[in-house]
Parts: sequence; C-alpha cells; structure tokens
Amino acid sequence: MGLDLKDFAYDGEGGFDLKDYPTNAHVDAGERERYELLTAGNTRRMAELQDKLYADAREGVVAMFQAMDAAGKDSTIKRVMSGLNPQGVSVYSFKQPSAEELSHDYLWRAVTHLPRRGHIELFNRSYYEDVLVVRVHQMQHGYAMPKRCVDEPEDEFFDRRYRQIRDFEEYLWENGYRVLKVFLNVGRDEQRKRFLERIDDESKNWKFSSGDLKERDLWPQYMDAYDKCIRKTASRHAPWYVVPADQKWFARWLVSEAMVRVLEACDPRYPEVSPEAKADLDRCRQELAGE
Ligand code: ATP
Ligand code: MG
Repeated sequence: MGLDLKDFAYDGEGGFDLKDYPTNAHVDAGERERYELLTAGNTRRMAELQDKLYADAREGVVAMFQAMDAAGKDSTIKRVMSGLNPQGVSVYSFKQPSAEELSHDYLWRAVTHLPRRGHIELFNRSYYEDVLVVRVHQMQHGYAMPKRCVDEPEDEFFDRRYRQIRDFEEYLWENGYRVLKVFLNVGRDEQRKRFLERIDDESKNWKFSSGDLKERDLWPQYMDAYDKCIRKTASRHAPWYVVPADQKWFARWLVSEAMVRVLEACDPRYPEVSPEAKADLDRCRQELAGE
C-alpha cells in the first residue's frame, strides 16, 4: 500500500483531529532513495510548470509553511526554491511583528507580500501565527485596540479570526490565487533530538536560541492551537496538508507532491500567438536569415 498526499490532506470535509495525523509515517529506510528520486522528478516538473505559470500570468500561488521549531521549514523551503526560477518566486519570513506592522490589522503584512499573478510566494510562517503564537500567549490582550475587539472570550476572538482567514483565502481564490498550506508536523521527541544536534554541532549553533525551549514547554498548548486552527480554516480551495515531518526525506516528497498538484491545478499555458503575431515572427525570421 503506497502512501499518498491525500492521506495527509484536510479540506474541511468531515471531522478533524490532529491526533489522527502521524508525525512519523514510518516509511522503510530502504525506500529513502526511491523517494528522493521521486522528489527530484517533482522538482523538474515544478520548474516546467513555473515557466508556464510565469508566461501565462493568470494565477498566482501562495504556499505557506507552518511548524514548530526544528521541524524543517527552512530546509524544505530551500529545496522547493532550488527547482524554481528565481525570477518568479520569493520567500517572505514572518518574524515577530514590528511596531509598524502591529499598528495595522494582522492581515496587512501578508497582503503587502502577496505575489503578482504568474509568481509564487513562499511564506515561512504566515498570518497563521496570529491564531497560533498569539493564541498560546494570549497576546491579543496586549494589543492597542478598542475593547470591543479584544475583550471578548478567547474562543469568540479566535473563531472570528478563523472566519476572517477563511474569507481572506476565499477572496484570494476569487481573485486568481491558489493557497497551499503546509503544517510540518514534527514529533516532540524528534524536536528534542534536533535541538541537541543544534547544540552539539557548532555549525548549527546559530539556529538555536534558548527561547526555543520556552516554546517547547508549551507543546500541548501549541498542538491545541494547531488542531483548532486547521479544523476551522481548511476549505476546499485552501486545504491543509498535515505532513509527517520526522522523516525529512518523506516530508520533502510530500511537499513536492503538493507543489506539483497546485501548479498543475493552475493549468498554466504559454500564451497563444495570434495569427498576426505569427506572421510578424515569420517576417522577423526571414529578416534574420537574410542578414
Ligand atoms: P528559525 O528559528 O528556524 O531561524 P523562525 O521562523 O523560528 O526560524 P525566529 O526569528 O526564530 O524565526 O522566530 C520568529 C518568531 O516570530 C516565532 O517565534 C514566531 O512565533 C514569531 N511570530 C511570527 N508572527 C508573529 C505574530 N504575528 N505575533 C507574534 N509573534 C509572531
Ligand atoms: Mg526560531
């Protein structure tokens, strides 16, 4: 029985419980090479499709990656990028919001980094932080906003944000964008191993900060926030992919599958050349040939 991307997708149909989604798919280590070859094939396919998407310029793609620390966001994004033409793709990382960003509505910074049609934008974290880290730390209470916006019970506040996000993603869909949402689902034990590696390997020290341990201590709260947010924001046009991230090579294959699917769904085509433009091309060919 082969594993398939759809085993890890949730589009809002039926129930959702994060606990049903493994952090480790336990794919036999002997399969690694085969999956790496499949990923390489997907990377080539992505490049072909991106070339057409760029020329076609009718749809834009926003692919976002959410995860706990050390789940492999950065390396996954690096791999995805490596197959694409830099001219049509960029990455935006959502760090702690600046004072300017905090003085705007929370979707503002995402809006300012949306790609033009024909382009792909990769979000390293995303506006989902506003229902994840903000929920876990109850940051809404510190916002300089009117009482009517922040003083309601927690569930109401976040249910409203989930609805706003669903509406925003539907708005994007209706305006020619496709949204891909990936949660790299790493296990707590695997995170521990990777943190230890970051501490033991000097070349990885820069990736670790003691603050990461504070977030790790809030693991159950984060899982609860992920569970609720995925359940409430997955939709037909903007499904979530809950990717088991303990085996990096398997996670990368799944992400490459998701990228290929979304680009194929755009069905990009090179623009058709009109008969007049064709005649013009023939004329140019003759001119060049006669030089
Ligand atoms: P890495 O550690 O792998 O370099 P990272 O994405 O964890 O990458 P950091 O600079 O360590 O980058 O962390 C960014 C931090 O900003 C995260 O802890 C994230 O939760 C936080 N953040 C992002 N968006 C928001 C937000 N809207 N409100 C509050 N905190 C946010
Ligand atoms: Mg970090």
